[in-house]
Amino acid sequence: MKNDLKKEIIKCVCGKWTKPKIFHIEGFDIRGSECPKCGEAYLNGEDSFKLSEFRKIKNAILEGKISKSGNSYVVRLPINVIRALGLKKGESVKLKVKAPHEIIINVDKA
Ligand SMILES: [Zn+2]
Repeated sequence: MKNDLKKEIIKCVCGKWTKPKIFHIEGFDIRGSECPKCGEAYLNGEDSFKLSEFRKIKNAILEGKISKSGNSYVVRLPINVIRALGLKKGESVKLKVKAPHEIIINVDKA
């Protein structure tokens, strides 16, 4: 990710070159850069898209569905959740049963 950050360097509206930076916004690491002169911030388009998709669904009640695949049960997640969190097929998640009607799904992005 460090090398990727060089791509974030752009010419600021004030004329100075920006410095790459990771912005921590609402739990996301957003690639981008910041102007050392005027402080203007520029966010990576792909990362900003994920953040805006996340904001659309944050705290919304979304429908999922339990289905069966072989001997396992599968929780189907809406596509907007997959896109917003950048989830991929085969990724592992951690489940925590909180109450008789509540399961927390943790996406381990470390
Ligand atoms: Zn500037």
